[in-house]
Amino acid sequence: MNIVVCLKQVPGTTEVKIDPNTNSLIRQGIPNIINPFDTYALEEAVRIKEKQGGKVTVLTMGPPQADAALREAVSLGADETILLSDRAFATADTWATSNTLAAAIKKIGAVDIILCGRQTVDGDTGQVGPEMTEMLGVPFIAYVSKIEEIKDKYIRVTRAIEEGHEVLEAALPAVITVAKEINIPRLPSLRGIMKSKSHKIITWTNADLTLDPNSVGLAGSSTQVVKVFFPKRVSKAEMLSGALDKQVDTLVEKLRETRLI
Ligand SMILES: Cc1cc2nc3c(=O)[nH]c(=O)nc-3n(C[C@H](O)[C@H](O)[C@H](O)COP(=O)(O)OP(=O)(O)OC[C@H]3O[C@@H](n4cnc5c(N)ncnc54)[C@H](O)[C@@H]3O)c2cc1C
Repeated sequence: MNIVVCLKQVPGTTEVKIDPNTNSLIRQGIPNIINPFDTYALEEAVRIKEKQGGKVTVLTMGPPQADAALREAVSLGADETILLSDRAFATADTWATSNTLAAAIKKIGAVDIILCGRQTVDGDTGQVGPEMTEMLGVPFIAYVSKIEEIKDKYIRVTRAIEEGHEVLEAALPAVITVAKEINIPRLPSLRGIMKSKSHKIITWTNADLTLDPNSVGLAGSSTQVVKVFFPKRVSKAEMLSGALDKQVDTLVEKLRETRLI
């Protein structure tokens, strides 16, 4: 079973700043973590490997420092790691990101399952899994909360929907995005940490993927961030005075005005 996990390194803080010229995140000098939703995808991949055998390859598109996320993935059970890093890939929107990831998955070849998180905590679009699937031309199942069975060339899963759960089957290879109910990710083992230190990360640039330079990075992005801004925080306090029942009436009145009740 060849499993690919798509994993993104994201800022490990909510104190992010936006570059006013490029409307993108200023990533320098802030701590990074593995996108929390992707840790569930990785854990599930490692569990499948432990049960059925095979290999877990972790794929990330990001700057050179994203190698830290890949090393952490090795400490958590990944076998191979591929960093897609090239200036040409920078400032990609979800479409260009998906195009680059899909090309890498095609280059890996003979992949049975591709696991993604449901969304990232920085870009937050949840678009990369489904977009990449379309480019690969394989089945897609979102918000999977349990993998029931993987047999021969099909997978049966349970996925969370608004009213309950749905059991679905898909032919393999398929892309699956996981919900966090699917498992409880493990902590890195001491052996895993030692292994991650000497682990060799494979780096692919666009020279390896041979994609049209106009289909990656900013040049390949069909959307543009026009403006990024933080909502203004306004707070004001008003002291009520007078008889208590009058104060209660005034308070109820004011809450009604603000539609809080
Ligand atoms: C015009 C524009 C400019 C942008 N410029 C920048 C920029 O300069 N720098 C920047 O960092 N971001 C930039 N972004 C954001 C960037 O497009 C997204 O971060 C990226 O495309 C992934 O989308 P997302 O974070 O919403 O992922 P989602 O669609 O929410 O992610 C779903 C899942 O897909 C997988 N996934 C997503 N991204 C990756 C990845 N890179 N590698 C591996 N797996 C992945 C993960 O499994 C993840 O859980 C820009 C966006 C736009 C529209």
